[in-house]
Amino acid sequence: MENCLFCKIISGEIPSQKVYENEYVYAFRDINPQAPVHVLVIPKKHVSSLDDTAGSTDTELAECLRAIRVIAAHENLAGGYRVVSNCGDDACQSVHHLHFHILGGRKMAEQMA
Ligand code: 5GP
Ligand code: ZN
Repeated sequence: MENCLFCKIISGEIPSQKVYENEYVYAFRDINPQAPVHVLVIPKKHVSSLDDTAGSTDTELAECLRAIRVIAAHENLAGGYRVVSNCGDDACQSVHHLHFHILGGRKMAEQMA
């Protein structure tokens, strides 16, 4: 997808701190971390958000969720972590390539939003 920031990160056009990668998924550190561990997990095939997944395969979606468990273990998040996916304007989604934030390494607020 032309002009998509995260597609450019996947292709290497824009540098990133890679945390995990497989055939379907790429994961990297957020440039503006909101917690000691803040990793973004994205599907390699461009979809803009959770609202845009009608054409995604079950594997493409499931691999994102499976990657989260592997990354959490690598990042020593046995104490727990939060996963967030902002979808659309009301959620303040700023990059329109589906992504899951993994936030951990500190106690999260009880209130989610
Ligand atoms: P959203 O607000 O769409 O849920 O999250 C987008 C995330 O992408 C933000 O947390 C922001 O810090 C992160 N981000 C934006 N541009 C870049 C970038 O160029 N590199 C990296 N690693 N993260 C970015
Ligand atoms: Zn993209």
